[in-house]
Amino acid sequence: MYTPSFEYFRPKTLAEAARLLRKHKESRPLAGGHSLLPAMKIRLASAKALIDLGAIKGLSGIKAKGKAVEIGAMTTHAEIAASPIVRKSCPILAEAASQIGDIQVRNRGTIGGSIAHADPAADFPTVLLALGATIQAKGPKGARKIPADKFFVDLFTTALKPGEIVTSVVVPAYGKGTGGAYFKHPHPASRYAVVGVAAIVEVKNGKTVRSSLAVGGASHTPVRAESPEKIAAAIPDPLSDHYASGEFRVHLATVLAKRALAAAVERA
Ligand code: FAD
Repeated sequence: MYTPSFEYFRPKTLAEAARLLRKHKESRPLAGGHSLLPAMKIRLASAKALIDLGAIKGLSGIKAKGKAVEIGAMTTHAEIAASPIVRKSCPILAEAASQIGDIQVRNRGTIGGSIAHADPAADFPTVLLALGATIQAKGPKGARKIPADKFFVDLFTTALKPGEIVTSVVVPAYGKGTGGAYFKHPHPASRYAVVGVAAIVEVKNGKTVRSSLAVGGASHTPVRAESPEKIAAAIPDPLSDHYASGEFRVHLATVLAKRALAAAVERA
């Protein structure tokens, strides 16, 4: 099935992309196209104009910035999985990136596209929530920083305002004694997370002094839980479909959370 016809623009600057988004009604940014184009083909999404972000300099790449790592919105999953900076400073992100889809998806899909799409079965939203990441966006009213726990608002819905473009994601680097793990139960066909769990812990003198647990795939947005035992209460109305019932998703999340926390402590 083909997409309905649309106009296509490939601006060279962010300002030009913003201008095109303002000018063309029902326009959308295009990143890797791996979620938007399939959704347009099956008429789940529509756009009269696509503004390709691929030629804009400065929207892609990974930089260490003090105690944080900044990842440009157009950085691909494959680049994140292979990045020495990510592997050293926040390896859980590389672990999650390497489990996304297949090699074609990882080579085209971008972190900005993934989070702007806000699919409940996506991997990055869960990890960014556990890490306490910040999403940076630019729009008609200037630049904004949005904490991950305010960014994912509902199913396929984010806090982005019309015309806003995600420019980068800022992730805190691991401190001393920090460990993390991302475990998921992948759908056997697409590899999307039926359930994915991210755990970050900080260990001092053999004791866990801080832990952060986030669960994705089981509800409209990723959610935090204080412990594996409290996941059921944190997700009172879990997603249910022909592949996995809500009850099974909560069970999976509880089991994966125990394993992820144990692995995170071991890695700390
Ligand atoms: P696009 O498809 O280009 O865009 C997605 C949406 O985000 C569009 O609405 C677009 O307008 C908007 N957008 C894009 N960039 C920006 C920006 N910078 N600012 C504002 N809005 C923007 N994902 C997983 O997490 N785990 C998986 O296991 C997984 N498996 C997959 C398997 C298959 C077969 C396929 C096709 C996809 C899979 N995905 C998976 C999704 C994949 O990661 C997508 O690449 C990703 O969700 C969207 O990124 P993209 O760069 O392709 O964005």
